[in-house]
Amino acid sequence: MTEQTFFHISSRILEKADQAMELCGAPFQRIERTTEYNQQKMLAAFIDSGVSESHFTASTGYGYGDRGRETLDRVLSHVFGTEDALIRHNFTCGTHTLAVALFGVLRPGDTMLCVTGAPYDTIRPVIGITGKSGSGSLRDFGIRYSQVELEDSGRVDREGVLRALKADPTIRMVYIQRSRGYSLRPSLSPEEIGAIVSAVRSCSDAIVMVDNCYGEFVCEQEPPRYGADLIAGSLIKNPGGGIAPTGGYIAGRHDLIELCAQRLTTPGIGKEVGATLNHNRELFMGLFSAPHVTGEALKAAVFTAALFQCLGYQVTPCYQEERYDIIQSVLLENEASLIAFCQGMQKGAPVDAFVSPEPWDMPGYDNQVIMSAGAFTLGASIELSADAPLRQPYAAWMQGGLNFHSAKIGVMLAAQEMENRGLLK
Ligand SMILES: *Cc1c(COP(=O)(O)O)cnc(C)c1O
Repeated sequence: MTEQTFFHISSRILEKADQAMELCGAPFQRIERTTEYNQQKMLAAFIDSGVSESHFTASTGYGYGDRGRETLDRVLSHVFGTEDALIRHNFTCGTHTLAVALFGVLRPGDTMLCVTGAPYDTIRPVIGITGKSGSGSLRDFGIRYSQVELEDSGRVDREGVLRALKADPTIRMVYIQRSRGYSLRPSLSPEEIGAIVSAVRSCSDAIVMVDNCYGEFVCEQEPPRYGADLIAGSLIKNPGGGIAPTGGYIAGRHDLIELCAQRLTTPGIGKEVGATLNHNRELFMGLFSAPHVTGEALKAAVFTAALFQCLGYQVTPCYQEERYDIIQSVLLENEASLIAFCQGMQKGAPVDAFVSPEPWDMPGYDNQVIMSAGAFTLGASIELSADAPLRQPYAAWMQGGLNFHSAKIGVMLAAQEMENRGLLK
């Protein structure tokens, strides 16, 4: 049994953690193989793109001819296997990045068809499903929206997608959310995304766009390899490697990336401007570390699944399941346990461990939400973090961990806090 010197962990939890580590053997080996593959792919992309120390210098003003910025785009398109890419610190968050892609590509009269049920909460006001009319949503600009619900199994209803496409020739974009987000549905594998792409191509020339948040570097291939035209994500999740201080990326077909760049800046200017200030080095370094850090986060998720399963809780996914994103949910069954879990995890954060998170009325949610986050980058969910809406089925969604060793103790402290309060099964 591991000797605990720095934290108080009960012998029962230590025992369960050792048991959990044994279960993690095979899944960890799979993660290691994927990480090694992706890390080699990344290194090759850096070398082939001729990354040089001179690319780390800051540009100011218009940022014309910033070779670092151009090279970073090249590295990203190389590693994602796309014609082009746009990776910028100017994207303020994942939602903003996705919004730039949607507004960049869609035009009045077009319909956007989401085939994974209701999209992530923050995307809904962008589309105009929720939020005030007149706020500048896609809907305000005459872009229509419809969605195909997921099957009961959580899989995409491909027949339903085909029916929708045949019935509505204005569908210009098929939108797929890869990650489970904060639902209990399974995340989509790149192969499954490929099957949707084939179905779409059989009857339509709609653009296939994937919200790739939390999915980057979890598998050996990304959705464009399976035919997706456009993917987007946040740099304070997987592809920022825990180093990028902010930002996002869009990657895909060259003509579509041009449109996105014209939306990010302006028509006629596109990719030609954008001072990188002093961020190139962090974005290069973060991207370089991303496959490794994603692997560490995956190990943290698998360990959490194994530990809480050993403790008698339902978890999804299970420790031995294939994963397509870094999110782990743990069904804690009641409000008190959920709060203890998040407060315990916070005690294991490298930053702000002394604060205790409380449930609050988060804008956009019907229930109170409690969040644990003690991160170097505000809100970075590639760092160990957990979110939990206080409602049935009282599940905590956790993700991240810059390195497995620290994430492991964070997760054990979450269980410990439950035990301290007499809540652990
Ligand atoms: C994180 C996330 C987003 C974007 O959220 P931000 O908080 O704006 O970065 C969108 N979709 C999914 C599935 C996500 O996980």
